[in-house]
Amino acid sequence: MPNSLYQRLTDAILGLLFPDRCAGCGLVGKLFCPSCQAKLKPYPLEKQSFRAKESEKLSLDDFTVAFIFEGALRGALHQLKYNKIRRMALPLGDLLAKHLAKHPLPADAILPVPLHPKRLKERGFNQSALLGERLALHRKVPLLPTGLERTRDTAHQVSLNAQERQANIKDAFSWQASKPPPARVLLLDDVLTTGATLQACAQALRAAGAQEVRALALGRSRPDR
Ligand SMILES: [Zn+2]
Repeated sequence: MPNSLYQRLTDAILGLLFPDRCAGCGLVGKLFCPSCQAKLKPYPLEKQSFRAKESEKLSLDDFTVAFIFEGALRGALHQLKYNKIRRMALPLGDLLAKHLAKHPLPADAILPVPLHPKRLKERGFNQSALLGERLALHRKVPLLPTGLERTRDTAHQVSLNAQERQANIKDAFSWQASKPPPARVLLLDDVLTTGATLQACAQALRAAGAQEVRALALGRSRPDR
């Protein structure tokens, strides 16, 4: 039996045994149903002054966040990262592409925020790279999944406050390729919290010769301002 046919049969049987369920509402037959996608709340970035101040703090030229990280989006990202449903990167990547079409950022390449090799081995994939693959297809901008490397494992950021995170992650990234990074880089992360990770990435890229570094994240917690 040809491999593709075997694969299709396996998928069909698995689909019958374990049908897709929407990460938001549980609807059978969809990973992330259109109605739940439509209910996602855009992250409020209308205040240009806030964006400029935050960008400067993070060593970025600009950044944008698609949605408030809550509810169905939290569920969908959990399915991707922890339940390892890689196909979830497709609807999420499509949402990122739609957001970027409305809020374009100039870029020569998309660089997913890298995982430490140990973490990558545990998970089997980098969720931001999967999102980036989909986004790159839509935007016709190349994805550059190597070059920027996480050289220090900073796994347990969750329990740290903003200052501690920044200290913990400083110098955790470096540019490891023989060629310099592209002039205009778009960093891609799944969830932006304090921004310490993006800042450390941006600093490593600039040190290696990147001229302009911007960032895109799928979600961020509701701003308390
Ligand atoms: Zn749903």
